Amino acid sequence: MRFLPVFLDLQTGPIVLVGQGELAQAKLRLLLSAGARVRWFATDNKYDLSGFDADAISRVEKASGDPLAVHLSNVIAVLCAGAGDAGHAMAARAKAAGIPVNVMDEVSHSTFIFPAIVDRGDVIVAVGTGGNAPVLARRVRESIEKVLPARIGDLSALIGAWRERVKAKLPEMSSRRTFWERVVDGEIGAAVLAGRKNDADRALENISDHDAFASSKGEGFVALVGAGPGDPDLLTVKALRVLQDADVIFYDDLVSPEILDRARRDAARVSVGRRIGKPGIGQDNINKLLIEAAREGKRAVRLKGGDPFVFGRGGEEVAALREAGIPYAIIPGITAGIGAAAEFEVPLTFRKQALRITFLTAHKAEDAGQVDWTTLTDTKMTVVVYMGISAASAIRESLLKAGRASQTPVGVFARVTRPDSKAVVGMLDDLPSLVSAIESGPAILVIGDVVAHSLPWKNANPQEFLNQLMMAAE
Ligand code: SAH
Repeated sequence: MRFLPVFLDLQTGPIVLVGQGELAQAKLRLLLSAGARVRWFATDNKYDLSGFDADAISRVEKASGDPLAVHLSNVIAVLCAGAGDAGHAMAARAKAAGIPVNVMDEVSHSTFIFPAIVDRGDVIVAVGTGGNAPVLARRVRESIEKVLPARIGDLSALIGAWRERVKAKLPEMSSRRTFWERVVDGEIGAAVLAGRKNDADRALENISDHDAFASSKGEGFVALVGAGPGDPDLLTVKALRVLQDADVIFYDDLVSPEILDRARRDAARVSVGRRIGKPGIGQDNINKLLIEAAREGKRAVRLKGGDPFVFGRGGEEVAALREAGIPYAIIPGITAGIGAAAEFEVPLTFRKQALRITFLTAHKAEDAGQVDWTTLTDTKMTVVVYMGISAASAIRESLLKAGRASQTPVGVFARVTRPDSKAVVGMLDDLPSLVSAIESGPAILVIGDVVAHSLPWKNANPQEFLNQLMMAAE
């Protein structure tokens, strides 16, 4: 590490800015938004302050004279932006005087450099690349932006406001530390992050025994999280956040290892997955594990493929958590059918052609017997079938018998959004042989005219694809 990140207190003196044009303006914007006082030597003598509010303008001193000659006592730092040779001379002078100096985009003339900044009020993250790769620093900043809760600055402000009062109650540093950990990790922190700052203040006011609060176990919690169909980049920002906060993760077989890789490293991982053919530990046992973990004060994540409420038995888990009085949250995920639609470009609805979507499951041939197929014959309905692979023949027969045309386009989409995904398209009449062409699951079936708009259909039948498009345009 050549550059040590430190935070400058802008209250202690002015910053000298030497330079002109857009570069100087950009630095001015940064400094003034951070609350700095700026002594500006405009090397072209043009002091353009349009676009700044009165408060910001009041903090700018339009300096006159030669910056190389004026005194620098009390100055916190010197910045040169668009100053040309004057910048280099100024940098040499600042260095000689022992004042930190930055010449924009010229590390060799600078004694400090600017990081990419994540700014959430009191919480500031600075990202540096040693001045080598600002583009990379911006990318890192974007990934941090995504995982930091929007209101984390409010949490810091709350702690700042209560700090002295708590210090008076808990003189010992170690108990103070556990006290604040309980606040940050527990309901009080959660309330602030959810925008309920008043509740948080009230909860802090209501603590009568600070020692007891510090040593109490946090309240456990279960998050039912949709992991999406496989690609970890399809996790929601919220899902990623709870995964990185989890103490324990109960996951299904369908959850890909790449997604578990995004979870907090120390989180315990428990496979509870059932898979077709393998029984798994049973829903009642899963419910019990979730309740136990929460009662032990853990932040538990129940991680499911796709969306928890689409053929994911999330409803049963919520019922069990409600009955046990465990706090929980539901974080949706991208369900496999939607993932398949995006990856293979199947518009599930289409103007005039497909006005409805049905998501259904037909796990085994017997299940297919439970579906009322006569409700699925509308040619303007797209049918998306989960767990339909082993029942493919029964699905074909039932749909044909109910009256859906044998030439209805169908797609079989396997392992969607994963590196080894595969699509096979054809007609309803051929469904069983299409299914046998995908090698292995999981796979989703999409039945309906919209499949003819898909990418694999276009690739397989270029002429027919054009005809379809022309029909759609009519
Ligand atoms: N809750 C999940 C569905 C669980 S049921 C969701 O919302 O996606 C399991 C079925 O989902 C599988 O049999 C298969 O039909 C479908 N499925 C899940 N992941 C899939 C994937 N990556 N590709 C294709 N189908 C998938």
